[in-house]
Amino acid sequence: MAYDPNNIFARIVRGEIPCVRVYEDADTLAFMDLMPQSEGHALIVPKVAGENLLDTPPESVAAAIRTTQRIARAAKAAFGPPGLIITQFNGPAAGQTVFHLHFHVIPVYTEAGLRLHAREKVSADVLEANAARIRAALLAE
Ligand code: 5GP
Repeated sequence: MAYDPNNIFARIVRGEIPCVRVYEDADTLAFMDLMPQSEGHALIVPKVAGENLLDTPPESVAAAIRTTQRIARAAKAAFGPPGLIITQFNGPAAGQTVFHLHFHVIPVYTEAGLRLHAREKVSADVLEANAARIRAALLAE
């Protein structure tokens, strides 16, 4: 499948559609998942075009992983979950639904369990409040 430059995350990176931003640098962007599987679920993307881990330049993958680690640490500090899942899907058969490389940071609160993948939208207010907690944790690093 050829990379679609109009996929939703490419449009978010270009600022054409809104997202609740958590962190940005020259190579990567982190923002809240619109249909979070748990409180604090965030996504990290490299800014370059690439459908998945297999076809994205390694230096861009490395930049995205560095940001993923930062966001995971900040989410741990902000929400205090006992665990965190980092996921990344390659291809529809593996569960990928948006075809621009991204990593999920999903805090896991054992008693609550995880909501289903990409099912229920959460209000912008809730996403903004959770993003503010992660941003504050990043500032406190
Ligand atoms: P995957 O491709 O790894 O299956 O997941 C794509 C993720 O993107 C899902 O967790 C879904 O909830 C999220 N998502 C889909 N559309 C949007 C959107 O427009 N904005 C944001 N922030 N997240 C989205």
